[in-house]
Amino acid sequence: MASNVPVTVAHGDGIGPEIMGATLEILEAAGARLDIETIEIGEAVFNRGHTAGIEPESWESLRRTRVFLKAPITTPQGGGFKSLNVTTRKTLGLYANARPCVAYSPYIQTKHPGMNVVIVRENEEDLYAGVEHQQTAEVTQCLKIITRTGCERIVRYAFEYAVRNGRSKVTCFTKDNIMKLTDGLFHRVFDEIAPEYPDIEPEHWIVDIGAAKLADTPGVFDVVVMPNLYGDILSDVAAQIAGSVGLAGSANIGDDAAMFEAIHGSAPRRAGQNMANPSGLLLGAVLMLVHIGQPHVAELVHNAWLRTIEEGIHTYDIHSEEHSREKVGTREFGAAVAARVGQQPNELPAVSYAAAPGQTVTSATAARAAVKKETVGVDLFLDWNAGSPAELAAVVQKLEGDGLALDMIDTRGMMVWPGGFPETKTGDHWRCRFIPGDTGNAVSHAQIAALLQRAADAGLDFIKTENLCTFDGEPGYTLAQGQ
Ligand code: NAD
Repeated sequence: MASNVPVTVAHGDGIGPEIMGATLEILEAAGARLDIETIEIGEAVFNRGHTAGIEPESWESLRRTRVFLKAPITTPQGGGFKSLNVTTRKTLGLYANARPCVAYSPYIQTKHPGMNVVIVRENEEDLYAGVEHQQTAEVTQCLKIITRTGCERIVRYAFEYAVRNGRSKVTCFTKDNIMKLTDGLFHRVFDEIAPEYPDIEPEHWIVDIGAAKLADTPGVFDVVVMPNLYGDILSDVAAQIAGSVGLAGSANIGDDAAMFEAIHGSAPRRAGQNMANPSGLLLGAVLMLVHIGQPHVAELVHNAWLRTIEEGIHTYDIHSEEHSREKVGTREFGAAVAARVGQQPNELPAVSYAAAPGQTVTSATAARAAVKKETVGVDLFLDWNAGSPAELAAVVQKLEGDGLALDMIDTRGMMVWPGGFPETKTGDHWRCRFIPGDTGNAVSHAQIAALLQRAADAGLDFIKTENLCTFDGEPGYTLAQGQ
């Protein structure tokens, strides 16, 4: 007999305790072999002054078990509180988020019968790095950080997921026609890794038209992988158009740990009324069972759930006169699924996880030859509000010297000097690009520091600099529009 697997469980807030109770009852009925450690997270912990909603001791449980089944929590309104989900993902290095979005037509109403799409979202990077600054009275910025290692891990995870789950296509969504370096890297890595999986069809869509296609004709997609922000938005869209956000579970996977949950929140207005649908958390738990190497139990639970849905035993959120036979509460729904353990659905396709190995993730990235990096210029960002672009150019040209010359000035990425149009809206945020007066020379840190010193001496309010570098001769920066 295989031994029990230690798992950390949090019952959460709002409807959390009810849906977790139903979920654990079903797992037990199906014979899941779990050693459960219970931790407290959420509102009460926030209110005790822990800004991330989790006690320091709870991390010890998570580090020990490395598997987290988490009910939704209520994040208090107002500043100072951190999202527990973001903290958990980052602390435990959960870089991949997988959300199967499946339609259960005709038993649950959907615009897209037959939809069966898995959204794989990068979970740690992109605009969610949370590096934001207000730079001038007018201008705020959020850094979009995309790393090669991050792209390699998530793209490889998507292809591995496709192989392990018998899927045939992986689609990549990016906006690399605009963000040529950041989204461009994601797309390039996708193109590099795809040939390692010759049995899986790779394709790429620009995210805007891809999203429109996903909302309109999801049947053309299978596994879709994308950077964090697009994935955050489109995984909710995909879950909703499949039937309901209340039905989807999600897996957050890292090299050393994993977290499983429903995608919906704590629905406080429904709390304590035995109304909530436990299906999202239950399907999250099914993903967990596969992950911890209990695919047979996962299959028993999932097929019992499909059978219950098919028999028209529905909670209020998916209940309809046409498709439902019985409207039940959380507890009764849980008991109905538990009672059907061992049964298969008749009409909906039964699931099989028997062939799915535990999801050990191969995120290791290949060693790369060292790249030759050379600094070939510098962008100096200024907070300045005293005239036209030509007047600013006259001020900034006085900073030239020591081998550096002013190349161009832009605002919000649009070049306004030399040339430029009077119609272009300007403000208090400017980028002044300096390059070597003699083209082809490298630029030293000492030259950049001296340029900054001259700017300080001239009383200019500089916000930051960005070095312009080449990597093996390829520019690691973009031109301004109009340049
Ligand atoms: P929500 O997902 O909690 O609820 C939105 C609505 O969806 C509810 O009013 C309810 O009608 C319905 N609903 C959601 N889950 C349901 C279920 N299982 N069964 C039946 N109906 C269900 O979103 P919200 O109201 O925006 O957020 C409530 C709280 O949840 C907030 O504090 C938010 O921060 C938090 N939240 C937590 C998580 C998480 O812990 N992972 C995720 C999202 C939101």
